[in-house]
Amino acid sequence: MNAELRQHAARYVELLQRHGKKDAWLPAGLARRLPVASPSSSPSTRASSTGREIRPASPTLARGPVPPSPAKPKNDFDLNSILKGVQGSKADKLSALREKTAACKICPHLAKSRTQVVFGIGNPEAKLMFVGEAPGAEEDKKGEPFVGLAGKLLTKMITAMELTREQVYIANVLKCRPDMPANTSGNRKPTRTEMDACLPYLRAQVAIIAPTVIVALGSTAVEGLFGPQKTTISRLRGTWMELDGVPVRPTFHPSYLLHNQDLALKRLVWTDLLAAMEKLSLPISEKQRGYFLKPAA
Ligand code: SF4
Repeated sequence: MNAELRQHAARYVELLQRHGKKDAWLPAGLARRLPVASPSSSPSTRASSTGREIRPASPTLARGPVPPSPAKPKNDFDLNSILKGVQGSKADKLSALREKTAACKICPHLAKSRTQVVFGIGNPEAKLMFVGEAPGAEEDKKGEPFVGLAGKLLTKMITAMELTREQVYIANVLKCRPDMPANTSGNRKPTRTEMDACLPYLRAQVAIIAPTVIVALGSTAVEGLFGPQKTTISRLRGTWMELDGVPVRPTFHPSYLLHNQDLALKRLVWTDLLAAMEKLSLPISEKQRGYFLKPAA
């Protein structure tokens, strides 16, 4: 089997896994050739006896080698220590925090591989904050979150809310791009340890900006914010969670929408954004309320 086909299949499984799917039906030959965790790690990660079903329960599946764990965060690396000495207006505080983050080497492997820290962008006075999982290759290059195709879609979503990118704040749970094995492209999901290590920076951003609403984009962002969930993003979206007293609306990641053009899926995401708009007391036109509804037969 051709390596390129195997790579595409692995990416497909990865995408399903990122969005909470536990099963993927693949041709028997392909399922047998995808990398799976060892039998001792979890029986559910193995291909079934039919050779057709593969259950990617391990984040190592289709993502290459597990990266080294970052150094355990020091005890003094908490919200209070990060915010110590950070004073002035919200813009001043964010700028001081940006400097601290830029010098961070808590995850030595990411500090080594990153082009730069991708801190976040937007209005320090924003009432609405979007949180994704981690910078990808383009974000790492440009130093700004959500600048690729998914970022363009996020901008469209913001525009549909009659807002601009400059009015909101956009950040990721992880501030450095998850490293990839040498000579490989693509992006990998951040590890739990990496996200735990970096979360205090995001919480400091939230403490400074004090948004009214946070929209969490995708299951990994939700996991980064709240730890592993017992359910999928499909079940979490449409509900409210809470981070440090701020309501959080989980929804699908824009990259999932890019891979799935289903109108009903777009409507679900739009429903989450409408809920965020209501929480923000933003005006909502009848036209906006009707976006992505099936036209009457
Ligand atoms: S990912 Fe976060 S905690 Fe880790 S080195 Fe980068 S800024 Fe520091």
